[in-house]
Amino acid sequence: MRRIGSNIRKQNSDAKANRIVRNIIKYTDVEKPRNEYPKRIVSPVNASACCRDENREMVGSAREIDGFKFCYKICTECGHAVKFFFPAAGSTSEAVKEYRQWKRYMVQ
Ligand SMILES: [Zn+2]
Repeated sequence: MRRIGSNIRKQNSDAKANRIVRNIIKYTDVEKPRNEYPKRIVSPVNASACCRDENREMVGSAREIDGFKFCYKICTECGHAVKFFFPAAGSTSEAVKEYRQWKRYMVQ
């Protein structure tokens, strides 16, 4: 028995996942690491010992897609790039908190 419906659903969710994690980082050891943000970032395949938080520099500005806030970070030593997602709590903006306060006030 073929389950056509489940196939279609899977394709849709895949397409959505691709949109969210659309990656501009190209991992290769053939090309030299370089930063062409926002078009492209060429990064070594593997992270090295130098790739610690203090060596990683944020590239460009943080972006938000579908509630996921992220930025790109590049190691200043070797050029290894990662996509860094901010903790979910970080997306709770001051505006939302104020709105909740206001709503509570209106109920009373
Ligand atoms: Zn590094």
